[in-house]
Parts: sequence; structure tokens; C-alpha cells
Amino acid sequence: MEPLHIPQLAKRHERTLEIIVDATIPEFDTLTPVRGKVIIKHGGTYLDVSAQAETIVTLKCDRCLQQYNHRLELDTSEIIWLEEADEEPARRGMEVRTDPEDLVDSLVPDGHFDPNVWLYEQLCLSLPLRQLCAKDCAGIIPPQEPDPGPSEAQRLMDSRWGILGTLKQQISE
Ligand SMILES: [Zn+2]
Repeated sequence: MEPLHIPQLAKRHERTLEIIVDATIPEFDTLTPVRGKVIIKHGGTYLDVSAQAETIVTLKCDRCLQQYNHRLELDTSEIIWLEEADEEPARRGMEVRTDPEDLVDSLVPDGHFDPNVWLYEQLCLSLPLRQLCAKDCAGIIPPQEPDPGPSEAQRLMDSRWGILGTLKQQISE
């Protein structure tokens, strides 16, 4: 996916671009390609970017430290404001109902939007905070000590007693 020139997006039919994704995302290790779609809508003063995608990642269990495969399902959207660095932010005059925490991202209106970088960030955010291979993972199980059997001294002792026993038996016969 190439970075997109933002003004070009505004010229598209319905100001929307839908990208079918079936690719590996740089820097994000997955077992299968990331498959799904990213939809970018130019809203004049903002980009409305949404994605539905899925892939399989290999994670390490927090409890038992074993690796396991996890299906990652992405279904997210984000508003990215378009504002000049020195411009009064467009959002100031608007009533914004969404949590402002979600609106930290902004781009310059004649800049580029890189779907790869955006998707990478969304995938990172969708990783489970608590990584467990199974809900009932028992954690690290200490390796079973193989039964060492009787020690060398013990065996020697036993065989001596054995000889004694045989002798005793012979004497009494
Ligand atoms: Zn585990």
C-alpha cells in the first residue's frame, strides 16, 4: 500500500477510497497475511478511516511462556483531523462528541496518509494486553524429576545384605 496524497482522496467518487488488504505489514510479524479492507473517507476537515481485517499472530503466554497462535480481529475506525501545523485546529469550533482522546492524530491537508503505518498502529493496539495461551493456563509446570532410583551406596548395601541373607540361609540348611 502506497502512501496516499490526501487532496487526491477528495477528488474520488464519494470522496472515499476502499483498499482491499491481503498483505504482510512491515514490522508486524504475522503467521498469515493481514486480510480485510481499509476505507478512507475524506470529510473535508478530517479523514474518516476504518478497517476490518484479520490475521494470525504468534504470541508468548504471560503465564507459561509458551508460544501460541492468536487470531487477531480488527474492526476499528478513527477520525484523523486535517490541519495546518500553525492553523487554529479545525476541531476547536466544532462540537465534538467523540472522546477527545481518540482524536490525537492529525495530518496536514495537502500531506500524505500512509495506510501501512495506520494499519500497523491499529494492529498493535488490538493485541491483547494479557496474553494467555488458554483461559485456564496453569502457568509454568516444573519439569518432572526423573525418579533417580536407589543411589549407588543404597544398591551396594542391598546387595551385601542379599549375600548375607544367602549365607544365613546356607548355614541354617
Ligand atoms: Zn500458557
